[in-house]
Amino acid sequence: MTKGIRRVGAMLAALLTVFCTPQLAAALPDRASTPLRSVAPDLVLTGEIGPQDKLTFHDVPFAVPQGVVRISVEFDYTERDKHTVIDLGISDPDGVRGWSGSNKSSFTLSRTDATPSYLPGAIHAGTWKLNLSVSAIRPDVHARYTARVWFWRHGDIPAVSTFSAAPLKTGAHWYRGDLHMHTAHSDGSCASLTGRPVPCPLYHTAEAAVAHGLDFIALSDHNTGSHYDAVRELQPAFDTLLMIPAVEVTTFQGHANVFGTTEPVDARLGGPTVSNVGAILDQVHDLHALISINHPTSPTDETCRGCGWSAPDTDWSKVQSIEVLNAGELWGAMGDARVKRPGVAFWRDLLNEGHHLTGVGGSDNHDVELGRLGVGFPTTVVYAPELSERAVLDAIRAGHVFIDARGSRDGLLELTAQGPSGRAMMGDTLAAPAGANLQLSVHVAHAKGGRITLERDGAPLTLPDAVIASDDEVKTLQLAADGKSHWISADVSIGGRPVLIGNPIYLAP
Ligand SMILES: [Zn+2]
Ligand SMILES: [Zn+2]
Repeated sequence: MTKGIRRVGAMLAALLTVFCTPQLAAALPDRASTPLRSVAPDLVLTGEIGPQDKLTFHDVPFAVPQGVVRISVEFDYTERDKHTVIDLGISDPDGVRGWSGSNKSSFTLSRTDATPSYLPGAIHAGTWKLNLSVSAIRPDVHARYTARVWFWRHGDIPAVSTFSAAPLKTGAHWYRGDLHMHTAHSDGSCASLTGRPVPCPLYHTAEAAVAHGLDFIALSDHNTGSHYDAVRELQPAFDTLLMIPAVEVTTFQGHANVFGTTEPVDARLGGPTVSNVGAILDQVHDLHALISINHPTSPTDETCRGCGWSAPDTDWSKVQSIEVLNAGELWGAMGDARVKRPGVAFWRDLLNEGHHLTGVGGSDNHDVELGRLGVGFPTTVVYAPELSERAVLDAIRAGHVFIDARGSRDGLLELTAQGPSGRAMMGDTLAAPAGANLQLSVHVAHAKGGRITLERDGAPLTLPDAVIASDDEVKTLQLAADGKSHWISADVSIGGRPVLIGNPIYLAP
């Protein structure tokens, strides 16, 4: 659900008396000029400041209705070129929630996170106030201020990204990221200045991601959103690295990452509030978030409590993604020998049952000092129209994804299928009526010496020359459609170990 102008009218009646001859603007502002872009504000508060207001304080009250989980404000005023300065802060019904003076013209605050200068905390309904103070205005100057206020409700999708008002990069591209990591906000650790293992500040993980050349990360601490406030502070400084809100819902029956919301998910599966896994999936659905089952084939024993996915009656139509490659599987002899069955096999069984699920990877990093085997190992690579949270999560929903198991910076795998009805990329469904001629095309870059495995429903298709002899190659295969539903996938391995894992193209009769 996206927000619109629907609530502005209802807010008119709720607007309280304000000082300095304020009034509601007659027209909505040019939305394209605001960082929130596509979303109209719920309130527009305006007023006039004159010379008589110099060195005075003015509260601008406004009503916050029930059900609001986040408030965002943009503030502007005229006559800045004449050295007018109006400072900005905000109070909730209980008192001051922050003050940014003249150093910020926009801010947001919610239960979990707030723009630096402001305090996260519950958003109580009632009368809030913008706290304006006029620190400078010349004797002959009259200035007008405009405050645009957005109310975000349960399940609203951010205009672009939760922690960034604009895409970090534009243009359709394969963007590389890590969807699974832990910090001091759960059990991620690193060495202190004196070499002691300590809960690891999350900026170390962000720095490791930058060093690995990643475009996006999702810090997914266990059953908490306590890291979101720190992420909000980091994002402006890490302006090439998109940070996507995530939490690892950690239960006795399995783990799953929930992406794209800062609202809490009750993970007490089996307890009085969450009787079955369906209750978790329904929470995620109501939040318009994305859920990905983590390390589904990990053991569930004393060493790894509830790590494998064992939740009975999982409705896979409410699941979007599976972490089919967790770093623990990749470490091989030096790693987690307890994983007896690949996550890919778990995924393929579900594909064969007819489910459409996107396979992703995750480092599950708990130690940024692992270096090459740490953050970004493996890498999830998504084809998205821009580097924004909405674009990346939509790309995962669409299956426009491959996994770079080595965590390289440039490995590329593109499977496409051309049929009479058009062209499909990984994740897409292609109409393939009986007798239709399909051309499968596999484009691989930077995996020289590898071997392509092309499969239909998990059974190999014979590719005449499967060996990749150069740094950039395209292999093709003609296929006659039989008019039945299938999935087609391409992977690349070197020396029998996975290097690139593709998502399927689905063939529909
Ligand atoms: Zn886990
Ligand atoms: Zn984890």
